[in-house]
Amino acid sequence: MDTNGRQRLCIEIRGAVQGVGFRPFVYRLATELKLKGWVKNTSRGVEIEAEGPADQLKNFLERLPLEKPPVSSIVELNAKSAAPIGYENFEIKFSQDAGEKSAIILPDLATCTDCVNEIFDPKNRRYRYPFTNCTNCGPRFSILTALPYDRSNTTMKHFEMCQDCHDEYEDPMNRRFHAQPNACRKCGPQLALWDRSGNVSAEGDESLLLAEDCIREGGILALKGLGGFQLICDARNDQAVMALRNRKSRPEKPLAIMAANLNWVMANCDISDLEREALLSIQAPILLVQKQAACELSDAVAPENPNVGVMLPYTPLHHLLLADLKFPVVATSGNLPGEPICIGEQETLEKLSGIADLFLVHNRPIARHVDDSVVRVIADRPVVLRRARGYAPLTLFVKDELPTGLAVGAHQKSTIAVSSGKSIFLSQHISDLDTASSLERFVNVIGDFQALYNLKFDKVVCDAHPDYLSTKYAIENSEKAVRVQHHVAHLLSGMAEHSLEPPVLGVVWDGTGYGPDGTIWGGEFFVIRDQKIARIAHLKTFSLPGGEEAVREPRRTALGLLCEIDGDSLFENDQREVLQKFSPEELRVLRKMLSQRLNSPVTSSAGRLFDGVASLLGIQQRVSFEGQAAMALEFGVECSRDLRSYSFEILTCPSGEREKYVLDWSPMIQAIVKDQIEGIPSGSICAKFHQTLAEMIVAVAKKGKLERVLLSGGCFQNKILTELTINKLKKAGFAPFIQEQIPPNDGGIALGQIMALARRFELEV
Ligand code: ZN
Ligand code: ZN
Ligand code: FE
Repeated sequence: MDTNGRQRLCIEIRGAVQGVGFRPFVYRLATELKLKGWVKNTSRGVEIEAEGPADQLKNFLERLPLEKPPVSSIVELNAKSAAPIGYENFEIKFSQDAGEKSAIILPDLATCTDCVNEIFDPKNRRYRYPFTNCTNCGPRFSILTALPYDRSNTTMKHFEMCQDCHDEYEDPMNRRFHAQPNACRKCGPQLALWDRSGNVSAEGDESLLLAEDCIREGGILALKGLGGFQLICDARNDQAVMALRNRKSRPEKPLAIMAANLNWVMANCDISDLEREALLSIQAPILLVQKQAACELSDAVAPENPNVGVMLPYTPLHHLLLADLKFPVVATSGNLPGEPICIGEQETLEKLSGIADLFLVHNRPIARHVDDSVVRVIADRPVVLRRARGYAPLTLFVKDELPTGLAVGAHQKSTIAVSSGKSIFLSQHISDLDTASSLERFVNVIGDFQALYNLKFDKVVCDAHPDYLSTKYAIENSEKAVRVQHHVAHLLSGMAEHSLEPPVLGVVWDGTGYGPDGTIWGGEFFVIRDQKIARIAHLKTFSLPGGEEAVREPRRTALGLLCEIDGDSLFENDQREVLQKFSPEELRVLRKMLSQRLNSPVTSSAGRLFDGVASLLGIQQRVSFEGQAAMALEFGVECSRDLRSYSFEILTCPSGEREKYVLDWSPMIQAIVKDQIEGIPSGSICAKFHQTLAEMIVAVAKKGKLERVLLSGGCFQNKILTELTINKLKKAGFAPFIQEQIPPNDGGIALGQIMALARRFELEV
């Protein structure tokens, strides 16, 4: 063929370009511009060869990034000229399994509008078919078994496409062109309804209809969703919700709900434009929103809580279920307390047969667990509190070359991160590592990431806490595991998210983390310069009588705080209100513990400070889930507009060559006790408490004299604290940053740990 006047371009693209209709888009564009050549998926991304006149090639290169499919993203595009070969047409080539496995894995995406319309159209061949999807939507990460993303590397490989599906799959002009999970009622996965013994009681659409009857009658359904089982019941029915709580041993922790549509959410909750956007996004997370007074939900869904976690249907199965029911359902993870979400039918039957009445299952295997994600809008930004479905896995690109490393995260809200070259891959949320099965899941996720990206880890990084199961795993598997202090990891995680270079002031407030000085840290301020991290300030320390026991009983923490102020004389005044919270016998033991420093670890934790104040205000003496007392204080503020604050002191202590500051909360605690005795409304006290904490942060920022201030740690899941702090910092001339894409809680620790591999930091306590 005549190649006169023709040129050839070899293009390599990296980014989220697989499973998103990228190749058909390239095909259509190339065909339109009358270019010849091919496009194919590789394990690194997409490769294109295009031949044609120079001006058309230029046009092609310009339009590629501008007109790419909506869910794709381009991270890197390299184009090289070469001598023309004389291609005669433009084609889509089959995938190759070679080279470095760094193609970006796409998360599972909520059903698109086109697909939703099809399943509700009686004339469409996919009418009421629960596994409908296309290149713009549907499962990805949860069905992927290997890279590259092709049907043979997914759990769809055993379903052979019928002629109609095959025609769609082969037609570059079709929305389902190379949609790997493409299926229909004739050829794809099917529903079945099982009883508690695993006997099939119905199949196909009938199983869905019977499952709906079960929910209408107040029963509990275990539903095999996208990345795991969910437990579902009528969210308006007190008895059904209480039965679920009792059977799941989950007395108070809020349950998420799924609403039929946006109209229900608008009629029952107060949502902003940004919140509406997040609900309708392709990630379709659980969004924490404020309930209206007349909200239709049972109070048992989120007791003593003005907020509720709401999501919209995100698979065709959920769309069909909710459209038939026309009322909101509780949709919580199908797991036992402390265990990860169930994904296999047999496992689910074994574990959940004491909870669910019926099991709505299907025969498309789940390749790996992916929980529902949780998002809260804080300071006008969607903040991801749990990164899983729709968001995971996350690929980050960094400037510096990293060793091939594994970061095992912390203990709660476990996630892992792996690094290779200039890429970091962050896993989905795993669970707290409290049980044997959660540890097993954690080990599986490590193996999974190792296999998916074909890595052999040279370095392993873990938390400095010797008792975390993740730390133990790291040490067992690597002789030279690198230990990164917990709050330093929070700081590095936030810096990685915003590509911040030192110097930065890091404010890291959370529940508890292992401090290298033998105390429990959690109210920390760091200045990071070059390779040095200095702990420039922290909250004044206090004792936690009983250690772990104090974490479950905020009243013990309240005692620890007051004992720090008054010493042993606290116990001599019988009239002290805090003493009324205990029996004489309990007081005798606690007094001894505190005075002799027995089993009373010392902490600078901000989270524990919240606990202590919640107890002093009579709001919470015992907690049944992490963060409960802090949440109660935050909710306490909502009805108060008090803008005053309490006084506090900032003590200067010389520490080697530099100065270190201790934030003394004693004046605040004394004032809170006084306000409480004088009958000041607790809402007002809660408000003043939050104001004071924000002012404490600004006071240290002024000492730090660095413009950029990063807030991280679980305490910044608190919307009021975070927003007050940001506003006050801005007013004082600082540039505050918060975690948004990466959770501020321990779900972000793994990323911070892996960042410590890029640059070794020296921590000055
Ligand atoms: Zn679709
Ligand atoms: Zn079919
Ligand atoms: Fe933490």
